[in-house]
Amino acid sequence: MKLLKAVSIGLLLLSPTFAIAQYVESTGAAEEHSISALLDDAITPILAFATEAEQATASRIKIVVVPFHPADFVISPLAIKTSQGERVMVLSDAFLRFLDGYLEAYLLSEEVGKKILAESWAQRHFAQVSMLNQNPMQLPGQMFGLSDLEINEFRERTSDAFAGLKWMVLVDILLHEIGHHAAELFYNPEVDTSETMIAAETAADAWATEVFRAYAASQARILDKSNSTGRAFALLALRELSSFVSVADVRSSRTHPTPVSRVMAILNDGACSTVQSTISMDDLCKKLEEVASSLELDDRGFSTYLERAQSGEAFAMYRLGQVLLGQGKSIEACSYFQNAHEAGLVGWNTRFLAWCFEPESPTGLSDPEFAEELYYLAADDGWAEAQAWVRKFGTR
Ligand SMILES: [Zn+2]
Repeated sequence: MKLLKAVSIGLLLLSPTFAIAQYVESTGAAEEHSISALLDDAITPILAFATEAEQATASRIKIVVVPFHPADFVISPLAIKTSQGERVMVLSDAFLRFLDGYLEAYLLSEEVGKKILAESWAQRHFAQVSMLNQNPMQLPGQMFGLSDLEINEFRERTSDAFAGLKWMVLVDILLHEIGHHAAELFYNPEVDTSETMIAAETAADAWATEVFRAYAASQARILDKSNSTGRAFALLALRELSSFVSVADVRSSRTHPTPVSRVMAILNDGACSTVQSTISMDDLCKKLEEVASSLELDDRGFSTYLERAQSGEAFAMYRLGQVLLGQGKSIEACSYFQNAHEAGLVGWNTRFLAWCFEPESPTGLSDPEFAEELYYLAADDGWAEAQAWVRKFGTR
């Protein structure tokens, strides 16, 4: 998977130059200045409420923002302690760019009342990145068919809400990663057990919550008295990433463990009853409940997608097809891709369905003319891989 390759390349290039320092390593990443600013403005005052030993640990963390490269898959935030004892936090332009898009898609989905917009934008984004598309970012507003003028108006109207949400999410992510160092709990998803990973994630969350609470209690005016809203968003965003990776590659499902306990902690700590001026906490908590139930069943979202598909939602039919494909049930998967296609869905589903009907496809459904028609449709929809197919094999 590109994800791990990207991580190891990033670290390989950077590790020889690591020195112990408090702030962000200069890598030329687009987001390193905004991360530096966030450390100064938000994290440093919060860390004043950690113990002296924890502050000393935090001051030794080298923060590396991996610059965006179109051939790399999204690298989710990581805490690492090397065998030499160096402490590193890895962030990436690709993840931060995804986060911006996801937050905007979420706000837009609330505005237009189309609940699946954020989810479908996120999945399309990852699919395009995974196909090495050189220009993968489709703005949520573009995906929803808004004009440039309408997108600008929307962004102006929601800029405060966007900035506030992004602040909360990044503060929670940075505190969580520092929490791994403060608790001295790290893991390697390739070799460690899920118990080890869950224990490390839970301890990092607990540390972040505790230090934020101590800080918030001393503040007269604060964006949010708890870090729950930020964590809810961080968990939703990471869940989109892990559900994409786990249906795309069965072996990678352990790479981003989101234990159900992390989600339940948010649902149980009163976050859902708080009033949030920019978003509906009811809707946010409903989404988290869906995440919790799919994690509890460990079914990669199968039952949730099935229920939604049966209610006629085309996007859920496509996701159900992906889950089935991951389980090796290709004929069943293709029937869901076909249903989604007939229900009007255009996107990566079109490319999956084309694969179903290729003459050499293991499905045996061979229909070369239909496959070609689908490749043309996907190419028109902007999919680089389908465009390459059309250039090579297209007969029109
Ligand atoms: Zn973690």
